[in-house]
Amino acid sequence: MNDLKNTSNLAAIDAAHHLHPFSDMKELNAKGTRIIERAEGVFIYDSTGKRYLDAFAGLWCVNVGYGRKSIAEAAARQMQELPYYNAFFGTTTPPATLLAQKIASHTGEKLKRIFFTNSGSEATDTWFRMARVFWKALGKPQKTQVIARRNGYHGSTVAGASLGGMKLMHEQGNLPIEGIHHIGQPYWYAEGGDLSPADFGLKVARELEAKIDELGEDQVAAFVAEPIQGAGGVIIPPETYWPEIARICKARNILLVVDEVICGFGRLGEWFGHQYYGIEPDLAPIAKGLSSGYLPIGGVLVSDRVADVMVEELGDFHHGFTYSGHPVCAAAALENIRILEEERLVERARDHIGPYFAAAWKSLEDHEVVGEAQSVGLMGGLQLAADKSTRRRFAKPDEVGMLVRNHCLQNGLIMRATGDRMLASPPLTINRPEVDEVIDTLRKALDHLR
Ligand code: PLP
Repeated sequence: MNDLKNTSNLAAIDAAHHLHPFSDMKELNAKGTRIIERAEGVFIYDSTGKRYLDAFAGLWCVNVGYGRKSIAEAAARQMQELPYYNAFFGTTTPPATLLAQKIASHTGEKLKRIFFTNSGSEATDTWFRMARVFWKALGKPQKTQVIARRNGYHGSTVAGASLGGMKLMHEQGNLPIEGIHHIGQPYWYAEGGDLSPADFGLKVARELEAKIDELGEDQVAAFVAEPIQGAGGVIIPPETYWPEIARICKARNILLVVDEVICGFGRLGEWFGHQYYGIEPDLAPIAKGLSSGYLPIGGVLVSDRVADVMVEELGDFHHGFTYSGHPVCAAAALENIRILEEERLVERARDHIGPYFAAAWKSLEDHEVVGEAQSVGLMGGLQLAADKSTRRRFAKPDEVGMLVRNHCLQNGLIMRATGDRMLASPPLTINRPEVDEVIDTLRKALDHLR
C-alpha cells in the first residue's frame, strides 16, 4: 500500500511536480504549500497540526461538514459491488437512477430530469450545448447566442471560462469564444451610484432586454446567471433583480439558466437558489453540495420544456462523459442527500443557524472598514470600505482583501477574499460557538485595516 502518512518532504515534492489550479506557481513554490491532512466537522488540520475553522466549506461545497463516515461507507460498499459502469448505450446503474429520482424529489414540479456530469464546469458545457440543441430541434437553429454577466463564474472549461465574466480568465486563452455576450452585474455597492438598490436592480436587469434587442431576439438562446454571484464576491442582488430577469426571459422567449453549483443543496436555506428567489429555470447546472465534495459529481437539471424536446424531437444527444452518473459518486451523493434530509440541514440553514449567522455577520457593519455585510442562508459577503459614509473603496482592493484574509489564516480561520470583499460559506452544520469564532477572528483581522 502507498504510505500517504509520510509527509516529511511533501512541500518539496509538490514544488517539483504539482501545478496547482488558480495559483501563481513561482510564488507558491517560494512560500511552500500548506498541506491539509485531515478534517472533522467544520475544522481542517494541516501537517503541522494547526487547526483551521473552514468558513469556506472547502470550495463552497462541504455542506454536510467533514468526517461523515456514512458517506465513506456508502462509497466503499458501492466500490466493492460495482466500481464503475456507464450510462451510455442503453445502460444505467442503481445509484445513478436512484440519485436522479432523489434529486427530483427536491426540485420544483417542472424540473424533474437530470443529465449527470463530474463537475460544475462540465455541467456548464452541457447546458450550453443543450440550449443550442433545443432551439435547433424546434426549427430555430439561428438561436445560438448566450448572454451572461460580467464578474460571473461558471467554471474553467473553454465554454465555462467564456460564459464567466472574469477578465483575467478571458485574457488567458483568447476568450470568450464566439456567441457569448456579457451584461452588467447587480453589484449595487460598487456600481449603483445614486440609485436606490431597488432601482439599480431593475436597471441592470434591463441590460438583458437591451442586449437581446441589440442581438435580435431570434438569435438568442439563453441567459445564465448565479442566483447569488459566488466567486465574483457573494454579490447579493437587490430584490427587484430576479423577478425582472425572469419576466424578460419569458417575454423574449429565451431560456433562463440558473447556475446552482454553489447555491444548490441548502446554501441559501432552500434546496435550490432559484426557489429562494421564486423563479423557474429552464436549465440549472449543479455540483458541489450534491456530494458535499466527498466525490466529484455534477449535473444539469432539465425542465420539462427542454427535456420533452430532447426526448421527443432530438434523437441522439451527442454529448456525455465516461463518468456521467458514476455509481460510486452517485452512491456518495445519495448518502449526502440522506444526511441533508435526516438532519434537516436545509431547514436549519433557513430557520435556525442562518438567522444567527446573518445577525452575527451584520454586526460587523459597526466596524469602521466595513461598508456592508449581507448574507442569505449560510452565504455571506462583506464589503470593505475606506469611507463608509460615501461608499468610497480602498485604493488597492486586492491588497486589503488579502491582508484581512491572511490575518484570518494566521489565526486559524479560512476565509476567502475577492478583491475588497470577504466571503463566507461555512458547512451547513456550523454551530453557534463556531459562528462566534468566525466573527471574532474576522473582526480582529479587520482591525488591521484601521
Ligand atoms: N458554476 C459556479 C457558480 C461555480 O462557483 C463553479 C465553481 O466554483 C462552477 C460553476 C464550476 O464548477 P467546477 O469547479 O466543479 O468545475
